[in-house]
Amino acid sequence: MEHPTRDRPRATLMILDGARPDVFDRLREAGDLPNIERHLLAGGPPCRAVTVFPSTTGVAYLPMLTGCFPGTCDIPGIRWLDVREFRGRWWRAGDGLRSYCGYQGGLLNEDVRPGILSLFDLVDDSVALCTPFHRGLAAGRVRVRGSRMVWGSIGHYTGHWRRLERAIGSELAAVARARPRLAFAVFPGVDCVTHRRDPFHPDVLRVYREFDGAIGRFAAAGGFEGDSLVIVASDHGAARVERHTDVALALEAAGVPTLRHPVVWRRAPRAAVMVSGNGSAQVYLRPGEPRGRRIAPDEIERGDVEGIPADLVQRLADLPGVALVAAREGEAVRVTSREGRASVAADGEGGIRYSPETADVLGLGGAATGSGRAWLQASIDGAYPDAPVQLLQLFRSRRAGDLVVAAGPGTDLRSDWEIPEHRAGHGSLTADHMRCVVAANRPLPSPIRTADIFPVILDHLGVPVPGSIDGTLPPASATMARSPADASA
Ligand SMILES: [Zn+2]
Repeated sequence: MEHPTRDRPRATLMILDGARPDVFDRLREAGDLPNIERHLLAGGPPCRAVTVFPSTTGVAYLPMLTGCFPGTCDIPGIRWLDVREFRGRWWRAGDGLRSYCGYQGGLLNEDVRPGILSLFDLVDDSVALCTPFHRGLAAGRVRVRGSRMVWGSIGHYTGHWRRLERAIGSELAAVARARPRLAFAVFPGVDCVTHRRDPFHPDVLRVYREFDGAIGRFAAAGGFEGDSLVIVASDHGAARVERHTDVALALEAAGVPTLRHPVVWRRAPRAAVMVSGNGSAQVYLRPGEPRGRRIAPDEIERGDVEGIPADLVQRLADLPGVALVAAREGEAVRVTSREGRASVAADGEGGIRYSPETADVLGLGGAATGSGRAWLQASIDGAYPDAPVQLLQLFRSRRAGDLVVAAGPGTDLRSDWEIPEHRAGHGSLTADHMRCVVAANRPLPSPIRTADIFPVILDHLGVPVPGSIDGTLPPASATMARSPADASA
């Protein structure tokens, strides 16, 4: 039976871009977020939540909007190179080179793997505010165009974000009065100001408080009334940057001519570096020679890749501030740090096996096999939350690098062309970047991945959940088998 319009289930998803869960909690415990406390958290405290790798703006919206990880969406970062297509003709948009931080931002909509359905495809009567991804929405249903700001392209102008956030808040209240089935809104201010300050700066805290005001106006407009699910989530955390380590410059210093933004032309490059969120970088070897497969680390180590030093992987892993280098080796993902190496692989029975070879690189306490959900629970409080699942998903993208470099705490991965200098960043696998806010006016499972928000919303709206997605309606608990002996027991 059809619900009458006023009582039918509705859902609203707001992204508080770059909000750290500890800052969010501290502010609400201090009584600084009264509207959030009263309306959004009436049903309980925020969930323990993780985003995806790379933990970067725009890319990390996709799991919430499609239920699919970036690797499944074939969007491995905000910048990428497709070795199947790239022939060095960077000026041709179709030539397999992307940076969404600029005129290519809109291409995200067509770049997401065909066949992946968004909330906008699945829920009629949807509206979205300030989103760079709107596939499935009619033009008139995308409101408050500010996605260049979201990508950080024009975020340098002080004060710009505040006008934009106010416009989004006002429009969202108007949307609440119109009661569409689904509303999606991006509030980019926390991330914009964090980059130029640090996550705990008074200017950043003010943006959280202003967002609380927007929640108050949304509530006054009836946003929480009736059968309404309201979720506030961040797409990543953020951390202060103490050190810049430029991977492209390190490659040049190792004698490898390297292509990088913003000047994506280099005579006979032997590598390309594409940075995401500044905390991670995709490294492609021998770009400009189209090939249908990735170069594996053992090929590099045998010296089989012309012009690439055999010790390249270890050399990158040893760079100051680099946490680890990941690479696909057969069906496994090998992770290398300055301490040694380990691997992550599907076990063929739906589980994931983690094997430290010469070091416990991911800090997971030794070899173990478990379901993806069990790994989430086992790793969420560790140094690299959800790393086994996140490393495997990223390399599903054929546009992911031969090598993926993840920065350690306090480090970002570019230095020589960044204006203004970033004082805080995100993008890596570290806890400060991966842990994010997920809070809702209805009880949600905890811990939760941002990809689980997609089926939670569809379930609430009574819309069938597509089968082949990464997000799930999480079970109450999952168990982990420790060590090979335990796993077989
Ligand atoms: Zn962001």
